[in-house]
Amino acid sequence: MRFLIPSSTLIAMYSLVALVSTSTTAQAENPSSSKQSVILISIDGLRPDAILAQGPKRVPAFFRLRREGAFTHNARTAVTQTHTLPNHTGMVTSRLVDGPEGHAWTWNRDPQIGDTLHRNKGAYLHSMFSVAHDHGLRTALFASKTKFSLFDISWGARYGQPDTVGEDNGRDKIDVYQMKTRSENMVDDLETVMKKENFDLLMVHIRNPDTAGHGFQWKTEIPSIYMAAVKKADELLEDIFDHLEKPHWKGRTFVVLTADHGGPIGLKDHGNNQNPENFTVPFYVWGPGIPAGADLYALNPETRTDPGITNPLPGEDILPPIRNAGAGNLCLDLLGLPAIPGSTVNAKQDLKAR
Ligand SMILES: [Zn+2]
Repeated sequence: MRFLIPSSTLIAMYSLVALVSTSTTAQAENPSSSKQSVILISIDGLRPDAILAQGPKRVPAFFRLRREGAFTHNARTAVTQTHTLPNHTGMVTSRLVDGPEGHAWTWNRDPQIGDTLHRNKGAYLHSMFSVAHDHGLRTALFASKTKFSLFDISWGARYGQPDTVGEDNGRDKIDVYQMKTRSENMVDDLETVMKKENFDLLMVHIRNPDTAGHGFQWKTEIPSIYMAAVKKADELLEDIFDHLEKPHWKGRTFVVLTADHGGPIGLKDHGNNQNPENFTVPFYVWGPGIPAGADLYALNPETRTDPGITNPLPGEDILPPIRNAGAGNLCLDLLGLPAIPGSTVNAKQDLKAR
């Protein structure tokens, strides 16, 4: 049986579609004052050795980052936490979790009604989103776990601080927030949005390796469910790279890629913050002027030290390691913006990738 739709209804539907697309186009034409764009990609539960063990044929996008960018496979999570939300909060605020300057978010669940990062800390927490947005840049967060709504709420129109930098760009520091619990669907959405809209600072969270690890352990043998999930993450990374060939992005976009934590080969949980398998993460920087194939520790001999198999406490009498929490301040540095107020990791923006 066929449904007959009266032509007047069809016309109404088409004009609605036209209206929606017109308003999206208008948004895309927002002038941007930034010369560069930065995409921060977090691959949830990614062990760096899972990239090496697969090789360039199976995970070409990760190997492209290695070949064309600067990187280390020995970066660190927060010291006291190897869980997802505390480490992502670290990335976007460039703070560790605990201590007087820590961001203090230790939960790894969806925010409850009334929860914000600021309320939990008892003080307003700035982020890479708030600094970029206050400077007039367009920001977005595409995530694949519901708990990331914490960021959209904390830096949204209700709880974001008024913009006191230059012209008033408003309190909603994340212009576009989208979440789909299948990373593949989330990246589909991202591709659709990127066809119409430009961003200066975009964060993308891909969950597949973590989901596989919780179900079947972080097994780095091939084949394993975990390694298939890392390969899937690589395919999604390829999709993103494809978009970087387009106008606005081509030749002016940096990719910073890291992970919130790794995971143990023989367990289904990565919560033990003493286990090097959990606190060792990759850190890649790719884009214009980034030296091809460079070691990030070799580029930063005066300010960072490869920590071996330790995760040193801040204040220990050695240079700090490269941490996933340094990503927020690095992204701002690449955009030519100052560090996040109150941040402590890469707060001098002295992690050099060029
Ligand atoms: Zn997990």
